[in-house]
Amino acid sequence: MYNPKSDKAEEFICHEEILSTLKYANQNKNNIELIDEILAKAKLRKGLNHREASVLLACELKEKNTEIFQLAEQFKKDFYGNRIVLFAPLYLSNYCVNGCRYCPYHAKNKTMLRKKLTQEEVKREVIALQDMGHKRLAIEAGEDPVNNPIEYILECINTIYSIKHKNGAIRRVNVNIAATTVENYRKLADAGIGTYILFQETYNKQSYEYLHPTGPKHNYAYHTEAMDRAMQGGIDDVGLGVLFGLESYQYEFAGLLMHAEHLEARYGVGPHTISFPRIKRAADIDPNAFLNGIDDEIFSKIIACTRISTPYTGMIISTRESESCRQRVIHYGISQISGASRTSVGGYDHDDREHDSEQFDVSDQRTLDEIVRWLMQMDYIPSFCTACYREGRTGDRFMDLCKKMQILNCCHPNALLTLKEFLVDYASDETRKVGQALISREINRIKSDKVKSLTEDYLQKIEQGSRDFRF
Ligand code: SF4
Ligand code: SF4
Repeated sequence: MYNPKSDKAEEFICHEEILSTLKYANQNKNNIELIDEILAKAKLRKGLNHREASVLLACELKEKNTEIFQLAEQFKKDFYGNRIVLFAPLYLSNYCVNGCRYCPYHAKNKTMLRKKLTQEEVKREVIALQDMGHKRLAIEAGEDPVNNPIEYILECINTIYSIKHKNGAIRRVNVNIAATTVENYRKLADAGIGTYILFQETYNKQSYEYLHPTGPKHNYAYHTEAMDRAMQGGIDDVGLGVLFGLESYQYEFAGLLMHAEHLEARYGVGPHTISFPRIKRAADIDPNAFLNGIDDEIFSKIIACTRISTPYTGMIISTRESESCRQRVIHYGISQISGASRTSVGGYDHDDREHDSEQFDVSDQRTLDEIVRWLMQMDYIPSFCTACYREGRTGDRFMDLCKKMQILNCCHPNALLTLKEFLVDYASDETRKVGQALISREINRIKSDKVKSLTEDYLQKIEQGSRDFRF
């Protein structure tokens, strides 16, 4: 029985409710009155439920679809402005005991070179990332209680935060590791992590069990209830995501929103972020073997519909996607992107891309400097901001500001300050020139005289060598 407040995975992600939602969406995909009603509700900026959002996703009316995309673009501007936060993944270890059929790190892949970073190697990776200008990382590791126990992950987090190289510092470490216990989540919270990210992969239990034939990840309920345990362990900010291509996108979309509704109903805080990975080619993985692949058009619509259904949630896209795809979806709601990513273990400390321990092919292979310039040329402010978590604006405190559309008052000046740091410390001459012009334009858009004058003061101090100002 469907119950968003339940602690049981099969009740808050209810298969029958999803099937009935998809039927309802299909029956109403050309129902102009209902679609108008849902769009009117969306315009109140309080979000949509999975049923309403699924009707919009199914909608086939051209002019209504244009309206959906325009609304998503407007929401993006209203809630987050024109800043795009940048981060990089850091692969710690690709040892894994699971048997996921879509990932080359699965335990049976004997051709995969297994690597685990030593603390000395973590340090070298972090220095390489700091030298690019990164301030925010997402650490990744396979599930392996012997090779990657929680103590190893905690030691790596500690090492990462401790490295201060030139003007560099990693100010926020997000963590993407396997589902674990409340006790371990508490240890991660105590280590000062930012967001705990765990992709559901697929919400369809039957497909889930087929795609995860062996290892602890086979347990659908344990995996699906991980965010509940993370919250019980004191982690305020959790990040959801499915791997599009494994199951029908309509099913995953409804499941994703039901998961968000569950977190909101049960803990009063929806997901901090939602990521949008699509299945990609990798060593011994052929994406064509999966029959539910989606094209860029559908992908963009999923992103636009998510934007208007969960306006308070940050949305992330990685370098799995090409430059042109990223350019398109950034307009429809993406608020965070990765840049200059290496998806191999130890990949940043080498000049050449190493393919023997990669998790997936990277489509967008530009440098961080190139990505920063590209964003600015589209009038976005590349941001390295990590202020909320460091100011204690997490969980419901963050959501409250976001829902009132006030977070923008922090995001905008913080984006300018962290961009300035990047321009002074890491940018090429050409990027610096474009950036200085952008900052001069954007500073005049700060509404509060007090914030504007403080920002001007901080910008000057950054020029003179001080760092790490934030609102
Ligand atoms: S997706 Fe994660 S759990 Fe599955 S094989 Fe890859 S690294 Fe292991
Ligand atoms: S102010 Fe908060 S929400 Fe805005 S970019 Fe910084 S950390 Fe993110």
